[in-house]
Amino acid sequence: MTTSCSKCGEPAVYLRRYTGETLCTSCLITSTVQRVRRTINKRKMFTETDRIAVAISGGKDSAVLLDILYRIEQDFPRTELIPFLIDEGIHGYRDESLQAAKALTASLGLDLHVTSFSDKFGQSLDSIVEGRQDPRVTACSYCGVLRRKAINDAARELEADVVATGHNLDDEAQTVLMNIMRGDVQRIARTNRLRELTIEGFIPRVKPIMEISERDTVAYAYFQKLPFVDMPCPYATEAYRNDIREFLGRMEHKRPGTLLAVLHSGDAIAESLIHDQVPQKRGVCERCGDPTTGRICKTCQILEELQNR
Ligand code: SF4
Ligand code: ZN
Ligand code: ZN
Repeated sequence: MTTSCSKCGEPAVYLRRYTGETLCTSCLITSTVQRVRRTINKRKMFTETDRIAVAISGGKDSAVLLDILYRIEQDFPRTELIPFLIDEGIHGYRDESLQAAKALTASLGLDLHVTSFSDKFGQSLDSIVEGRQDPRVTACSYCGVLRRKAINDAARELEADVVATGHNLDDEAQTVLMNIMRGDVQRIARTNRLRELTIEGFIPRVKPIMEISERDTVAYAYFQKLPFVDMPCPYATEAYRNDIREFLGRMEHKRPGTLLAVLHSGDAIAESLIHDQVPQKRGVCERCGDPTTGRICKTCQILEELQNR
């Protein structure tokens, strides 16, 4: 016997576990878009005249993000979506995902802006990693700092008001729990900021699909037939995150709603800490002028290391 959609009675294709709804393809799509719309409104992520730079990776999450924003922004003709991709220069991985990202943006009639590490910093991530002196410094520690800089600069060049990234509910809940388990709740307050609390000098970042579970994004991408590449980065070695992912995955399966509860706990922690936080003394980097708490920012420290090799 086929189960019917809890919303419209058509044959269902998907069970959304944390709401208990069975959904047909069309209701899965519309209810996911609706959910994102609520998140955007609740957290005041956008204004009606924003130029929104959308970070695309070629993977499913950013594909779902762009597809949903495209639908929502139809109702706001004065906003603009500007998809962009940071090409770190990771052989094999990035080449394929770049093709998927181009197919996605072309299907929506949008241009994809690409910034590469090689053009911007003079070296690809592969060559930075190959030339490192200390093998204990991970690829991700270079990549994280340089990508943050590349995203901020790209957004500035594109004259964007805000950057949207494709972090989903699972990513966010994992991050909250990791910070708690490392005893670093201050970090939750630093990273879970509402747009209006963005530090001056940085383009605000928002995560519109942060309340959509990984499982829902997979279903959305699949039923919408979005082009994406499902391949992990070859440098991904976050063993700790994998443990947390496995644990939270088991808990969510046993008790649907756990991921959302963790996310909301993170929000509550951030909210209570932000008011008590002593503002960090920030100056500007002597070399590049970006905001930093030290004399020279992390990006410039890495660039100096590359020069001295
Ligand atoms: Fe960069 Fe690490 Fe992510 Fe790969 S896994 S894209 S190296 S941060
Ligand atoms: Zn339906
Ligand atoms: Zn700097």
